[in-house]
Amino acid sequence: SPSIVWLRDDLRLADNPALSAAIERGGPTLVVYLLDEDSPGARPLGGASRWWLHGSLRSLADDLAALGGRLTLRRGAASDVIPSLVAETGAGAVYWNRRYGALRDVDAALKVSLRADGLVVESFGASLLHEPWKITSGSGDPYRVFTPFWRACLAAGDPRPPLPAPASIDGLAAAGDDLDDWHLLPTRPDWAAGLREAWTPGEAGALDRLERFIDEGLPLYHRRDEPGIEATSRLSPHLRFGELSPHQVWARVHGPLEPAAAANRAKFLSEIGWREFSYSILFHQPELATVNVRRDFDAFPWGEPDPAELEAWRRGTTGIPIVDAGMRQLWTSGWMHNRVRMIVASLLTKNLLIDWRVGEQWFWDTLVDADEASNAASWQWVAGSGADAAPYFRVFNPVLQAERFDPDRAYVRRWVPEVDGPEYPRPIVDLAASRIEALAAYEAVKAAK
Ligand code: FAD
Repeated sequence: SPSIVWLRDDLRLADNPALSAAIERGGPTLVVYLLDEDSPGARPLGGASRWWLHGSLRSLADDLAALGGRLTLRRGAASDVIPSLVAETGAGAVYWNRRYGALRDVDAALKVSLRADGLVVESFGASLLHEPWKITSGSGDPYRVFTPFWRACLAAGDPRPPLPAPASIDGLAAAGDDLDDWHLLPTRPDWAAGLREAWTPGEAGALDRLERFIDEGLPLYHRRDEPGIEATSRLSPHLRFGELSPHQVWARVHGPLEPAAAANRAKFLSEIGWREFSYSILFHQPELATVNVRRDFDAFPWGEPDPAELEAWRRGTTGIPIVDAGMRQLWTSGWMHNRVRMIVASLLTKNLLIDWRVGEQWFWDTLVDADEASNAASWQWVAGSGADAAPYFRVFNPVLQAERFDPDRAYVRRWVPEVDGPEYPRPIVDLAASRIEALAAYEAVKAAK
């Protein structure tokens, strides 16, 4: 009987345990992707992610076809669509790779009901180096601090080596949607020109990016905090959509490297570790994008956002050059340098006293790497409400940060060419006074303890 492989955030053929299991079982394989905005806990993708998804599915369909496979596209709640695909095809097995947020309840329920119908159902670990329930502290609790978490990951041993892509697929298709009918791409206005210029969604684009990073970026990675140079990998959207697995990254950086690159291997892998840490937090708190990890932060007196200030932040017209550069980089290319993400998030939550959830939602809509774990965990980290958060009193000073990390102003000048001209606005907020207000507001949290 046929097997069904249900792809989600794992849009790749190499190192895909669910796909490999189906092929090993033998018989025709139906590969399906579901646009599911209906299951409980499903969060509709933001605009930039929809753009990415379109390119990634297009590329996956081509890659599958080259091996004899077919990609079936369906829309709807998984609990309806998967059982009806089973009925349509007479499938005897269903395979998928695991998710770690709220939707894992959907998967668990489906597994129980399909097995009750006599199907083989297996799920696999594919998007994290270590399953989150395996990395716990001595007392069995999840880690709340990054450094011991990552130390425990490293002590758990090398992750499994990546699996090769299948050589061929005995593909089966079912009736499905046309990708274009999902309208994932923007039409009027077409804001995606900068995204098309910056990115190549899909598995081949991901592997190219990894190789380019190994050659050009990794030797410079000790300068990863400087937004004006390309010292980081920009693999985040590829990892987000699973066009590349962390196992493949791990294996590649343990392969042949120039000495200058090898010197930065451990630091780079520890950043992949932050992704694992974010997923571990999400696993233990599926409502990470809405609920404070530190519940004492529920007492924080967030202000009602001033619409003009919020709009200036979103559009990059705050009059604070490094912030405006970051917000424009985000709007134009769908990505922002990590150091600058921290700076703009600090300005929103501390100087403007706007709830971190407002910023999280804007990033969710505009980032090509918008990720249910890393985005929410990082916003909470900056706001002070998260696991292992920056101490609240450490308010980023965007002027000093720019002097330190963009000393020649290459980054600011690239994104804010008018920065030294008369038309560039004055800052919308007094940094020193607002910092003092933020510290006063924090007293409410301390009082709630
Ligand atoms: P590299 O430095 O090359 O790192 C390699 C990979 O490690 C990244 O691709 C990413 O998968 C992971 N990684 C690196 N730093 C972090 C980190 N601090 N937290 C989690 N994973 C990390 N990252 C996302 O992938 N999606 C998000 O939605 C997201 N939102 C963020 C929001 C805020 C407010 C902040 C401060 C950070 C956010 N990050 C997010 C983390 C980080 O900024 C990006 O992962 C990183 O900038 C991606 O660039 P890169 O691939 O060149 O990183």
